[in-house]
Amino acid sequence: MNDIIYSENKIPYTKNKFYDLQIGYYDKSWTDYFKFNLSWNRNFDHAGFNFEISLWIFYFIFYTYDNRHWCMDCEKWKDENCTHEEYEE
Ligand SMILES: [Zn+2]
Repeated sequence: MNDIIYSENKIPYTKNKFYDLQIGYYDKSWTDYFKFNLSWNRNFDHAGFNFEISLWIFYFIFYTYDNRHWCMDCEKWKDENCTHEEYEE
């Protein structure tokens, strides 16, 4: 992936939310003729909004994420009094 624009930063006025924007083109190893992904999830590791569209070699990707991991047992973020082990990525 060759980014023409790449930006990743914390979202202002939020505590754990970040955004990531990537616009660019793939080199000769491109695989998708066309791709469109749209999703928004919660209660999950790095949950957030995801948008991706690509056509031929060009791509536009925008997503947001929470920088925490979700504990399925406690049903809360690992940093919110969860007693389970944090794991490495
Ligand atoms: Zn837990």
